[in-house]
Amino acid sequence: MAKKVAVIGAGVSGLTSLKCCVDEGLEPTCFERTEDIGGLWRFKENVEDGRASIYQSVISNTSKEMTCFSDFPMPEDFPNFLHNSKLLEYFRIFAKKFDLLKYIQFQTTVLSVKKRPDFSSSGQWEVVTESNGKEQRAVFDAVMVCSGHHILPHIPLESFPGIERFKGQYFHSRQYKHPEGFEGKHILVIGIGNSASDIAVELSKKAAQVFISTRHGSWVMSRISEDGYPWDMIFHTRFSSMLRNVLPRTILKRMMDQQMNQWFNHKNYGLEPQNKYLMKEPVLNDDLPSRILYGAIKVKSRVKELTETSAIFEDGTVEENIDIIVFATGYTFSFPFLEESLVKVEDNMVSLYRYIFPPHLAKSTLACIGLIQPLGSIFPTVELQARWVTRVFKGLCTLPSERTMMADIIKRNEKRIDLFGKSQSQTLQTNYIDYLDELASEIDRLHPVCWGLPGQYWLALTLIHFNFCYIQSPNRARALTAPGIPST
Ligand code: FAD
Ligand code: NAP
Repeated sequence: MAKKVAVIGAGVSGLTSLKCCVDEGLEPTCFERTEDIGGLWRFKENVEDGRASIYQSVISNTSKEMTCFSDFPMPEDFPNFLHNSKLLEYFRIFAKKFDLLKYIQFQTTVLSVKKRPDFSSSGQWEVVTESNGKEQRAVFDAVMVCSGHHILPHIPLESFPGIERFKGQYFHSRQYKHPEGFEGKHILVIGIGNSASDIAVELSKKAAQVFISTRHGSWVMSRISEDGYPWDMIFHTRFSSMLRNVLPRTILKRMMDQQMNQWFNHKNYGLEPQNKYLMKEPVLNDDLPSRILYGAIKVKSRVKELTETSAIFEDGTVEENIDIIVFATGYTFSFPFLEESLVKVEDNMVSLYRYIFPPHLAKSTLACIGLIQPLGSIFPTVELQARWVTRVFKGLCTLPSERTMMADIIKRNEKRIDLFGKSQSQTLQTNYIDYLDELASEIDRLHPVCWGLPGQYWLALTLIHFNFCYIQSPNRARALTAPGIPST
């Protein structure tokens, strides 16, 4: 009998998980607390509890060619970077094409996921849901948690002495929807992530003055790269990834410094990252440097103190008459429906094998999908996660021992801190191609039957494998024929 899988959430992660379950002959049921699919990408004028909230102008910072699912390219007439409404449209045609809606129970919130008493032999879970005030229980063989991690605002008021005296308005970027109503205001945006930069740029076209306060700075990149290609098609090639892995650190640092400062010298704009050799997620914003040049945005250092109407900064400067503070200070996450012992969140970090599996379970039947921040698009990342996970559920792939998984988690975390730093915004950060390769190798190991083959067969197999996996990357091949981009 087909194994029953509960999928929690119908955003990108939930939709791809559903499709992978169907592909593997599993029997999925998806629970989605809202009335529709799309998760974060479905813009609404109001902020909803329990769901990510975006502003109306959000445009993807990863290109359509690097963002689509592997077997479902985006329509030819879609632009290279997508407004949120276009991404939602993509999900709708994806869900329709693979007939996924029939597996989704809308307006159904998962309240709890608990091990069954016989878990150590069955690996089964009891899932309690609530819909229209009615609770229901059901037993599942496995669970895929796809509930997102951009829901709970991180708003570090304790780092802002004097905030209790501040007489203006303040709110988290999650509350921001559009620039109307901010005309003529003096606005202070805290942080320099993608939310802070987008919001500062948009508000600077209406406000009297926008200030952006950063404690560590950030690299800012354009969505447009060499020869007008989308940045991620140039940055995330197998060759550049290989170079990043083999070149000595000192050479890499020099190359990164040069590459990142090619567009403009970050130092001159007050944006130079404090530790410029970390691979922290860059800001993708074509307008930020010009808005700074026009004086519409002024870059400030860390806020030292707030008064009733002004902000005092670490460098001793003071800005008076601040009307509004936008805390674009990122997110925290939690899993209110899981017992803490299953997936413990500490300092915005979780101990999961390959960012997916709790390592200590007697049966590997619980998986988190999308609890990650890759340097590239999350779409192919969650697709590969789901493909591996469904094969583990089906028994086609197995996980190593708890000890090996724990050792891997510790090593990975050390590497993460070394590459991306300790900042709260980087706790889920991963390399892109390297991580995809790890997942792909779990799914598609050359079968052991080949081990006894003579050398020339091995060479042939390796070349075929290499050609399929790396040279014929379908996304990249498609990108070269994207509308508006000449093929090479
Ligand atoms: P979500 O989209 O958050 O979906 C989670 C779903 O789970 C929601 O529908 C929610 O209602 C449901 N849910 C939650 N709890 C429950 C429950 N208890 N019961 C039932 N249902 C529940 N990534 C990129 O690759 N490219 C980009 O350009 C990009 N831009 C971004 C822009 C913004 C503003 C932000 C915040 C993030 C961006 N990201 C981007 C990263 C983003 O996380 C992913 O694109 C993606 O949306 C994550 O999808 P998800 O399905 O994991 O989570
Ligand atoms: P984020 O990337 O976590 O950035 C948070 C910012 O707040 C960082 O600059 C951080 O600075 C700062 N910060 C945190 N705590 C602070 C404190 N106590 N004092 C001062 N500054 C503090 O959050 P985000 O910008 O909301 O982005 C979340 C995710 O959504 C990212 O993956 C991003 O790429 C994505 N996103 C994409 C788009 C798009 O596609 N257009 C738009 C928005 C967001 P430090 O670095 O110094 O910690």
